[in-house]
Amino acid sequence: MKLKKCEYDAVVVGSGPNGLAAAILLQQNGLSVLLIEGKETIGGGLRSAELTLPGYLHDICSAIHPLAVASPYFETLPLAAHGLEYLYPEIAAAHPFDGGSAAVLKHSVDETAALLGVDQQAYKNLLHPIVNDWPSIAPDILGPLHFPKHPLLMARFGLAALRSAVSVAGRFKTDEAKGLFAGMAAHAMQPLTGLSTAAIALVLMTAGHLKGWPVPKGGSKQISNALASYFISLGGKIETNTYIKSLDQLPSSNVVLFDVTPKQLLQIAGHKFSNIYKWQLQRYRYGMGVFKVDWALDEPIPFTAEECRKAGTVHIGNSLAEITVSEQQTWDGGHPEKPFVLLAQPSLFDPSRAPEGKYTAWAYCHVPNGSTVDMTGAIEKQVERFAPGFRDVILAKHVMNTAQIEEYNPNYIGGDINGGVIDLRQLFTRPALRWSPYKTSARGMYICSSSTPPGGGVHGMCGYHAAKRALKDAFSISVKSLH
Ligand SMILES: Cc1cc2nc3c(=O)[nH]c(=O)nc-3n(C[C@H](O)[C@H](O)[C@H](O)COP(=O)(O)OP(=O)(O)OC[C@H]3O[C@@H](n4cnc5c(N)ncnc54)[C@H](O)[C@@H]3O)c2cc1C
Repeated sequence: MKLKKCEYDAVVVGSGPNGLAAAILLQQNGLSVLLIEGKETIGGGLRSAELTLPGYLHDICSAIHPLAVASPYFETLPLAAHGLEYLYPEIAAAHPFDGGSAAVLKHSVDETAALLGVDQQAYKNLLHPIVNDWPSIAPDILGPLHFPKHPLLMARFGLAALRSAVSVAGRFKTDEAKGLFAGMAAHAMQPLTGLSTAAIALVLMTAGHLKGWPVPKGGSKQISNALASYFISLGGKIETNTYIKSLDQLPSSNVVLFDVTPKQLLQIAGHKFSNIYKWQLQRYRYGMGVFKVDWALDEPIPFTAEECRKAGTVHIGNSLAEITVSEQQTWDGGHPEKPFVLLAQPSLFDPSRAPEGKYTAWAYCHVPNGSTVDMTGAIEKQVERFAPGFRDVILAKHVMNTAQIEEYNPNYIGGDINGGVIDLRQLFTRPALRWSPYKTSARGMYICSSSTPPGGGVHGMCGYHAAKRALKDAFSISVKSLH
């Protein structure tokens, strides 16, 4: 591409983990980069604030970071030198059952398997090969569709992963192993009969076995602060409080990367796109939303199962059958009485989150896209079911329905925190079926949000791949592969 004389080589719109990752890779390659954020503070899904009471720090969006520590790109960045420290709960995730027992995800595959009774060997057979192959296959899985570097290993992963969670859980005999797998798969935010749900469970479990499910000391905002600090140390510039509605607002640059979803991209730059690309973006599908609660607590949550009191994350939904029904009901537009609840309790491991002897907790359940139904009661009832006395330790709470979540972050369309459904149809071809999903049909314009492969979560890999593409197309710079 012939380069113009511009104010910046590159502009990135949106400062979520993907916008930050894209801006850093561009700046690392010698470009002058401006990162623009619509809100007052940077970070997108990586912000923390005192939502309930003074002295109680809550993660507004993401809280638990298996994908950030396992990110092949973030791994290369000197984030510890820029103030980021991860704290590792003794148990990554716990899954309580009626009757007081719990299944757990621990660091080692063998330790996790040993607690699954007759499913011990089946768990090892499923997880060991993926955990062993992960360093070779991760860059292929966490990127756009292409011919893999390790086709046989990828084929082995595909055989286990490109199935529904219900079908993979069927290889287990115990309710514990089935429930544990279902809780992991429910992060997919779609019916557990969907063909990409097992893959999502396996990626999260593998990340847990290899790197753990940590919380950042001082809140998730410390991840975005560290990324921004490193970006600035390289010479990058950041402008906040500038919401982009039109291309006319942008300074001149050779490339623009958008950390936004197709809906905003169409509003900002739709008139520059080909009809077919516009049509593809218009047909892009958003998924279920979330209803979120944050609590300030007088005491730790009194879970009956001891394992849950040592876990950073607790998956509340009881059995595979119950989670399957509630996720399907939500997908079909309902609000289940017993929703699947994802709960995080960072202050158990990071005392900086609350005054001495006090605690915080964070939880959400899935709801239909755009729902404004108040799910506080249903969520608290589910927690109380496995932690009798929970309601008595609540000091204050803060809730957000899907409209408030979207208002807070315009990328969460209808409360969808994954930037669009991550089913087989939109797994690798998000947001459109193209040779490179990051490249729009307009010259010099790229999309780098979680609406591109590999999708939702804090890993920065969408931003990394989009920036890599832009560097090659516009500046003829080839970035060395992460393999
Ligand atoms: C309640 C909740 C819990 C979650 N929990 C976890 C978790 O525990 N672990 C995990 O890995 N992930 C979690 N996630 C998901 C994770 O936060 C997202 O997948 C991730 O942040 C997506 O990154 P992104 O860079 O694509 O977009 P975002 O982080 O959404 O950032 C986009 C940024 O762009 C800005 N922007 C948008 N449009 C414009 C515009 N037109 N002009 C200027 N700026 C604009 C926004 O203000 C925002 O700052 C959670 C999300 C939510 C909401």
